[in-house]
Amino acid sequence: MAIEAYCVKCKAKKEMQNPVEGVTKNGKPIMKGTCPDCGGKICRIGAVK
Ligand SMILES: [Zn+2]
Repeated sequence: MAIEAYCVKCKAKKEMQNPVEGVTKNGKPIMKGTCPDCGGKICRIGAVK
C-alpha cells in the first residue's frame, strides 16, 4: 500500500517510506514517514486505511 505525502524539499508528492501512525497534539491521526528521494521526513494528516 502506497501512502503519498507532500515533501517540502522535493516540492512534490512522494510515496512515504516506513510510514508510522501517530496522533497530533489536537488528537488527529497523522502518518509520518520518510521521503524516498531526499530522505527528509514527510507527514500527512488524516487516517489512511
Ligand atoms: Zn523529498
